[in-house]
Amino acid sequence: MKYNIRPLPNGRCVIAGNYAFYRGNPDERYTYMLFLWLIEGGERPMLVDAGLKNVDEMNSGAAHVLAEPITQTPEQTAVAQLDKYGYKPKDIGYVFITHLHFDHIDQLDIYKNAKIVVSKRGLEAATANPGWVGSWAPGKTLRGLTQNWKERVIALDDKTVLPGVEVIWIGGHTPCSQAVCVQTEAGEAIMTGDTVSLLANIEKQIPVGVYDDLEEVKRAMKKLKERNAIILPSHDPGIFDRFPEGVIG
Ligand SMILES: [Zn+2]
Repeated sequence: MKYNIRPLPNGRCVIAGNYAFYRGNPDERYTYMLFLWLIEGGERPMLVDAGLKNVDEMNSGAAHVLAEPITQTPEQTAVAQLDKYGYKPKDIGYVFITHLHFDHIDQLDIYKNAKIVVSKRGLEAATANPGWVGSWAPGKTLRGLTQNWKERVIALDDKTVLPGVEVIWIGGHTPCSQAVCVQTEAGEAIMTGDTVSLLANIEKQIPVGVYDDLEEVKRAMKKLKERNAIILPSHDPGIFDRFPEGVIG
């Protein structure tokens, strides 16, 4: 089974160098794009990550990391981006979650017919504390995953979920971080989530500056590199230069 992968732009912000790179220069600035990824070629269209809707809430929650706040044009909403390809949120068959950070899962509630694939150990870690006091997973989404949408949730690690679509637990950035590996005509492509946020992280082997476990980030980068795949980091605007139409057959 071979799929097409299209990066859907969902917003933009600017990050200081010390958050983009381990021991990075706080005076440097890096543009981050927000993405969700559309996977076509299966029975129904699928997504990797769900998109951001509440930009103001994200900006206040992540203010310490943002050198310039997130902006989202009307064309960059998840709904507008899907519409460009003729899809509605209800058409989406699967949503694969790279990790439970707000900007990646805020809009998970609109994909009413989708199966939701999340890291099992990540979801367990996120819900381990009474009151879900962790800062990395918003309560409304955890409630959805564990209660309202429970029958649509597939919690697992390191499994082939569909022919040509595999998730691998990588951790590092958060305990719930998983990479989504998808077979394309150009070979395997891996959407890494924030454990690899920029192409430079993997190409220069410099870990991201925002992490739960630095050694785990390093192990994850090694694991990803060994797969010899096309790496699709979570926030690199250069993706549009390398793959203007996405990774397509
Ligand atoms: Zn992110």
